[in-house]
Amino acid sequence: MMTDMDAIEQLAAWLGEATRGVVFTGAGMSTESGIADFRSPGGVWSRHKPVMYDDFLYSREERKRYWRMRLELYKEFEKAKPNAGHFAIAKLEAAGKVAGVITQNIDGLHQDAGSRRVIELHGTARQMACVHCGKEWPPDWILEQVRAGDEAPECDQCGKPIKARTVLFGQPMPQGPMDEATALASEADVCLSLGSSLVVEPAAGFPRFAKFSGAKLIIINKTETPLDAMADLVIREGIGDTLSAVMERLGL
Ligand SMILES: [Zn+2]
Repeated sequence: MMTDMDAIEQLAAWLGEATRGVVFTGAGMSTESGIADFRSPGGVWSRHKPVMYDDFLYSREERKRYWRMRLELYKEFEKAKPNAGHFAIAKLEAAGKVAGVITQNIDGLHQDAGSRRVIELHGTARQMACVHCGKEWPPDWILEQVRAGDEAPECDQCGKPIKARTVLFGQPMPQGPMDEATALASEADVCLSLGSSLVVEPAAGFPRFAKFSGAKLIIINKTETPLDAMADLVIREGIGDTLSAVMERLGL
């Protein structure tokens, strides 16, 4: 059996040789920054039924529920800062080891840490827009309206609902990011899957696709995943701690 030290040495060796690695991140990446996993006990979805996209479009009651949940979410987002894992990934990109990040997260913390190529499969919480005409607003301004009593804000240009630019249940994944993520995964020499339980399809298909395309697959996650058996290395420790140790070995 591999000790933790052996695992870190091995990961450092693979990343040392990598020139087009891809990093795939899930909710566990951001829990180290204080953002609760929506799906975990205590997360937003353990307390509220998610709002489906069609219901959002056609029901004002569902939109009101959506915004009440958003207020809870943004309380966490406002306080969150990138953690050691986010900074390590940005440095690996700057050093030419990693070509880009594919993320299921909507919090923008990879960009805050300095990552340049970030593919957001589920969109971003950092923009809000009219679902019809696309007019945009800064999130803070819209949240202020909601807090002030506008329970389901509508566009001042066309009257249609305003929504964060994130992907709701029942809403198709954005094609552009899906295509870009597929290209990145197919070319990868190393794929790091960080903080994802790898059960949400189609997003979780990218690490599998990278592995089938010839990449070494390394999974860092606190719990088991369906891809553990095909991975080249599985680490059950924290992401920040593990990557900090790896960066030290790499001299980065
Ligand atoms: Zn509009």
